Amino acid sequence: MIRFENVGKVYRGGSTAVTDFSCTIESHTCTVLVGTSGSGKTTLLRMVNRMVDPTSGRVMIDDEDVASVDPVQLRRRIGYVMQSSGLLPHRTVVDNVATVPVLTGTPRREARAHALDLMEMVGLQRDLAERYPAQLSGGQQQRVGVARALASDPNILLMDEPFGAVDPIVRADLQEELSRLQTELGKTILFVTHDIDEAFRLGDQVVVLRPGGVIAQAGEPAEILAHPADEFVRTFVGADRGARTLHVRDIDGARIVVDEAGAAVGVLDPAGHGGPVGNGERP
Ligand code: ADP
Ligand code: MG
Repeated sequence: MIRFENVGKVYRGGSTAVTDFSCTIESHTCTVLVGTSGSGKTTLLRMVNRMVDPTSGRVMIDDEDVASVDPVQLRRRIGYVMQSSGLLPHRTVVDNVATVPVLTGTPRREARAHALDLMEMVGLQRDLAERYPAQLSGGQQQRVGVARALASDPNILLMDEPFGAVDPIVRADLQEELSRLQTELGKTILFVTHDIDEAFRLGDQVVVLRPGGVIAQAGEPAEILAHPADEFVRTFVGADRGARTLHVRDIDGARIVVDEAGAAVGVLDPAGHGGPVGNGERP
């Protein structure tokens, strides 16, 4: 479990990125922070692995304050995927994936064998193993980034707009792949995006941010969709446009959340208590 407790961040120079943010991310679930550029998403994400230290409040992992953990140790047990793949250009794909395990003492042969398995797991063909990052497509590079983040078998995955730079079709593929992986692996994922559809597709919990990392609304996708907290969320979600990926439909008196193909992904409790039931059959 990850818990943000009243965290704030004022950068040197005085810009306030995050004012006062509190949120709990349950283990084995995916929480998506969604907000426009500059709303503090990256700052919040990086507080978890101490690439950024908060100027107030604290971040807890399983009731341990991350401030008391050595940053290098911490980063080795937390997977991190960036928008730009962040791959080492002069190392082959398989060696990129195996980098951290080798650093932490896994014999190279073993690490490479495991890296090949991970490549398969993220949908990369083995014959790409000896290529260099520049010889891959953007989507393939992001898959390598995901495989690399999984290499040390972390409980936590931090993903910062990982699919932001790839075209929409590849993006949908990557989202689907991540959902499938998550069903299999059950990691604790903190995912950042500015794309509300992506947030709804991937999040068990979605946190809509205003500038300054202020929570406009947090909840399950169906709940936010059906009951936007205010005008800000309504506009961001575009609930009144009627062209969402997910929307609510009345079926025999029950309020059903359906996806773009018309398949039911959840039921909203008509009495208004208990909240949405089910969040699709995906994780
Ligand atoms: P997002 O990821 O949502 O785009 P960021 O967390 O990157 O938002 O940034 C939030 C705010 O903090 C922005 O106004 C940004 O300009 C500022 N900021 C981010 N990083 C730094 C930094 N290293 N120094 C100063 N200001 C920063
Ligand atoms: Mg960012």
